[in-house]
Amino acid sequence: MLQKNWQALRCTMLDVSHLSRHYGDSVALDDISLHLDTGRVLAVLGPSGCGKSTLLKLVSGLEDPDSGEIRINGRLIAKRGFSLPPEKRPINMVFQDYALWPHMKVRNIVGYGLTSLSRSERKRRVDELLSLLHLDGYADRLPAELSGGQQQRVAIARALATDPEVLLFDEPLSNLDVQLRMEMRHELADLFERLRKTVLYVTHDPLEACAFADELLVLRHGKLEQVGPVRSLFADPASPWVAGLAGYDSRLTAHLHSAIGNGLWRLTVGNQTLVCRLAECAQAVPGAPVSLMLHSSSIKLCSKDEEQHPDVNYLSGTVRQCIFEGHQWRIRLDLGETLLSLVSNQRHERGSGLSVSFTQHSALAFH
Ligand code: ADP
Ligand code: MG
Repeated sequence: MLQKNWQALRCTMLDVSHLSRHYGDSVALDDISLHLDTGRVLAVLGPSGCGKSTLLKLVSGLEDPDSGEIRINGRLIAKRGFSLPPEKRPINMVFQDYALWPHMKVRNIVGYGLTSLSRSERKRRVDELLSLLHLDGYADRLPAELSGGQQQRVAIARALATDPEVLLFDEPLSNLDVQLRMEMRHELADLFERLRKTVLYVTHDPLEACAFADELLVLRHGKLEQVGPVRSLFADPASPWVAGLAGYDSRLTAHLHSAIGNGLWRLTVGNQTLVCRLAECAQAVPGAPVSLMLHSSSIKLCSKDEEQHPDVNYLSGTVRQCIFEGHQWRIRLDLGETLLSLVSNQRHERGSGLSVSFTQHSALAFH
């Protein structure tokens, strides 16, 4: 029944336009716009201090904007000089530190906002929510009698209880240990898929973001760095900084040589020649220095006598370092002027020679 209500078609959407917030002289959020359709999950990604929580506080009404507007379903909820109180906004938030009332039992925490329901309706709804979050049998416990993962699930059940239009999550998994975080990632992915809620999910972990988000918005120093479908962050990062965030862990110094069409350029790394994709073609000048970004998953080891394909790049270097990572070894390959990071399923001696290959489109050059 509850599920049916949640799945009913609505035209809810969150519109944030040109939102800014300063604290004294420092800019926490600078001219941020986003648009979130009903039932979509948008992950806001960025390092500590980039303004993620500030954005959620402005949307939830815990803070007021200096400029810009926030609308839900077309209705203005905040702008400079006007702010709908948090309790009047159809929004609930799940916090990083759970924020559960320590003296209240799980049943009362989850049912706290359900004041308009009769006692029996309220009990039925709380039981339904506890079951949805795999918390059957925990209704009469206090928060201190629950594990971290269970406490976070109680916080999620509380946020879902009043069936808000928009759900906000502020790094909800970052206080959990690695294994539990992985489990909760699956659980949240499942929950979001089943409930089809409109979600703004803040995290500093790109893998957490892509586990269940439809779109990503990347923040850096309060400014928007990139926004778009999850895959575009990994396939087409907008800057070397976003590429680094997306796991491109090698940054080689290279020089442009000549354009060969289709966004591809011939370039040199030390005395070796490659063909790669150029991220910003407009400013391309032969001879210009560029940063060549590569993801270790696109680099393959190859033997010296292997047949070479015309549309694949080949590089040779000397093993500078080889460290064990549990299932594989991570190698830093010295290419003369620069280091390449790659993984191998076997150990390689420091000082030994290695050849690697990667496709032309997997390497991205940035000015
Ligand atoms: P994040 O959640 O991405 O870690 P925040 O939104 O919490 O970042 O903070 C963004 C910036 O604004 C930081 O530099 C932080 O120090 C500053 N900031 C946040 N809240 C306040 C506040 N209440 N007073 C002063 N500065 C603040
Ligand atoms: Mg934060």
